[in-house]
Amino acid sequence: MALLITDECINCDVCEPECPNQAIYMGPEIYEIDPQRCTECVGHFDEPQCVQVCPVACIPLNPAFIENRETLWQKYQRLQAESAAAAVQSRVL
Ligand code: SF4
Ligand code: SF4
Repeated sequence: MALLITDECINCDVCEPECPNQAIYMGPEIYEIDPQRCTECVGHFDEPQCVQVCPVACIPLNPAFIENRETLWQKYQRLQAESAAAAVQSRVL
């Protein structure tokens, strides 16, 4: 599953830079997680980094995005491929 940030978020800014997939961003009121980019940190770390650092424990699993480890791994590989393609593109321009 991807994770989500609840309205208990205090906008402390700590989690956003810790995400290896750039899945966390500032929403209209609180930080949010893009489920298309959150791999639960699969591919990068053993534990979700945002959960590790959040001081108010407001980052549960997102029940709308049920994904097993294999699916999360495939998402990680897609994101890596997109990053590599973007890096090549930036060198061409
Ligand atoms: S679990 Fe990992 S990939 Fe998902 S939002 Fe948190 S830090 Fe980012
Ligand atoms: S670490 Fe927790 S409280 Fe801080 S911005 Fe992220 S979700 Fe919100």
